[in-house]
Amino acid sequence: MRTTGLAAVTLALLIPMTSAHAQTGKITLVIHGGAGTILKQNMTEEMEAAYRQILTEALNTGYAILEKNGTSLDAVEATIRVMEDSPLFNAGRGAVFTHDGRNELDASIMNGATKAAGAVGSVTIVKNPISAARAVMEKSPHVMMTGRGAELFATSVGLEIVDPSYFWTERRWKALQDILVSERQTSATWDITKSEDESRFGTVGAVALDIHGNLAAATSTGGMTNKRFGRVGDSPIIGAGTWADNESCAVSATGDGEYFIRLAVARDIAALVEYKSLSVSKAAEEVIHRKLTALGGEGGVIVLDRKGNYTMTFNSAGMYRGAITAAGKATVEIYK
Ligand code: ASP
Repeated sequence: MRTTGLAAVTLALLIPMTSAHAQTGKITLVIHGGAGTILKQNMTEEMEAAYRQILTEALNTGYAILEKNGTSLDAVEATIRVMEDSPLFNAGRGAVFTHDGRNELDASIMNGATKAAGAVGSVTIVKNPISAARAVMEKSPHVMMTGRGAELFATSVGLEIVDPSYFWTERRWKALQDILVSERQTSATWDITKSEDESRFGTVGAVALDIHGNLAAATSTGGMTNKRFGRVGDSPIIGAGTWADNESCAVSATGDGEYFIRLAVARDIAALVEYKSLSVSKAAEEVIHRKLTALGGEGGVIVLDRKGNYTMTFNSAGMYRGAITAAGKATVEIYK
């Protein structure tokens, strides 16, 4: 273990130095706040303004790090934390409820320079799951921890622990009650997807390119309303919901997790970029508009390469999203 740790440290020290020569200067940060049936007619002006404000704040937070020659890893973590702390998104504070009325959170992070990765699944008391995912990556020899074990680990490394009631929000509670009622009425036994789409969306993600030419990606979610039996989606699965490597691109996904796992969406996009030299837009289009759509899945991705090329591609009605580039101007969009 000691050798592994040492080797990792040596690698971490070497790689940013080597890639510093590949400096592009094109610092870029791209985010999403979930995809789904997001329609203007269902949104109040206040709600839309609130979403735009937090998305902008998240972008500015990450950008402030990149601008000071900070790392893409620090930028994506800080960006995600802003959205996790907001009750608007289905991640951290605003996470959706499980069938049993709990909040079980998933998150993952990946460092493009080293291909190091970390993830947590089904945690219920960690205030910022993305920081727990990063701790798994940097302070343990593992990639993924779940449930009670992940919570004990997060506690042991000093992360902020909260009472589960911290994650209770009226909007998400009501969404669960609505589904439970509709389940009873239709005697459906497994109603987790389409019908409550509106209350599900809000998973958050970020991809960044720093001044050193290194990519990073991160994703955090509460999963799906009414999920049962310890269900875990794509968000904490490296290669499905999150991917970053300097040879291809950084990806964060949102949507029907089961489909994203089955298609290994994030890695598939990266593979098209790496092996077929497709642009990030072409690669995302192929996987989202062709493969995911053909399988019946819905959602989207943000993808960024080392030249600062990026895409925000989705096959749903909308996706909360935004970007900020070297020019320093944040842009935020919601609908198609
Ligand atoms: N992908 C997430 C999950 O399946 C949900 C979402 O992105 O809306 O857990």
